[in-house]
Amino acid sequence: MQYAPTVYAARFIMVDIKNLTVEELSAFIAHLGKEKFRASQIIKWVYQKRVRSFDDMTNLAKDFREALKGIAFISTIQATKVEVSKDGTKKYLFHLKDGNSIESVLIPDEDRLTLCISSQVGCPLDCGFCMTGSGGFVRNLDTSEIINQICAVQDDLPEEAQLTNIVLMGMGEPLLNYDNVLKAIKIMIYGEGMSFSTRKITVSTSGIVPEMLRLGSDTNVNLAVSLNATTDEVRTRLMPVNKKYPLNKLLSACREYPLPPRRRITFEYILIKGINDSLEDARRLARLVKGIPCKINLIPYNEHAGSEFRRPSDEAIRAFQEILQNVGYTALLRTSKGLDISAACGQLRGKLLKDLHHKEH
Ligand code: SAH
Ligand code: SF4
Repeated sequence: MQYAPTVYAARFIMVDIKNLTVEELSAFIAHLGKEKFRASQIIKWVYQKRVRSFDDMTNLAKDFREALKGIAFISTIQATKVEVSKDGTKKYLFHLKDGNSIESVLIPDEDRLTLCISSQVGCPLDCGFCMTGSGGFVRNLDTSEIINQICAVQDDLPEEAQLTNIVLMGMGEPLLNYDNVLKAIKIMIYGEGMSFSTRKITVSTSGIVPEMLRLGSDTNVNLAVSLNATTDEVRTRLMPVNKKYPLNKLLSACREYPLPPRRRITFEYILIKGINDSLEDARRLARLVKGIPCKINLIPYNEHAGSEFRRPSDEAIRAFQEILQNVGYTALLRTSKGLDISAACGQLRGKLLKDLHHKEH
């Protein structure tokens, strides 16, 4: 009997340079017999000179550039919509290659230019007050999709303007996409590349305890914890993740968190009328975080269509803040920017592929 010849198709996956840290890129080009320092050169071209093709990397030998072209590429993402708020905030809607979209928000503020980026398409944690959560979860972002939000916005800025701060506070829970987020942070801080200081990067989490501690040992970027309530009952109602990581576990992790000298954890506390904004809550909050080097950001709830919650009155907000300040906390009022274009905290939704399907069917 004759056997049909089997054809083995050479399955070759092109590597996206923006998915690689400098160590990974060094290892990758070592296979081509290239020295480590070439990896830094490539990174410099990509993130400092912002070229989009290996052909432009003129300090690399021609045959090396050709070899790279055969095995790797430099990805980009496109903004399909940019909205500008009257307060100067800018919201970018980015199209991803699988048809989903994510949002990033640029927040100009005196001498700072902060970019708030997404880490997931949607979010699985379903916090009752958050639009991202109510849209459900689709998938984690790749490292390159996280990094490309920064590249695309930087490219959109005038020549002399530089992003100064990066906050992972957009769509998604960054610590549920730990590996890609950590790689993205390594890319952001690499000195020959984007070269952000760890002081200028903040990861915001709903309190995924094991990964919080991992983050603290793997890097020293700033940590922001979305606390939002002072009892387990209320916190679980607002944030179902509290069932798994209740307040005592979360606050113990904050106490254990390896903070570099003179750094503080940020606690974010959304103020919602009649739910978590009583003076008793303010006193309990002060007791809960006692001993933790921290500052507290009070965020008046951003109302959105269909939500059952309301923002407290200005007097209630002020009274809450004063209790914390009177016992010595730094408690800042963070009125969200970009409300008129739904770019404020908790209003990012993107466009999910599954929604489009729903509409079609
Ligand atoms: N998943 C992470 C980061 C993204 S959410 C986290 O939960 O921390 C970023 C911040 O927006 C969180 O502090 C969250 O509590 C806040 N937020 C969500 N919905 C909000 C709303 N409607 N009004 C004000 N802040 C909101
Ligand atoms: Fe997810 Fe954060 Fe929104 Fe909660 S607040 S649903 S964790 S993005």
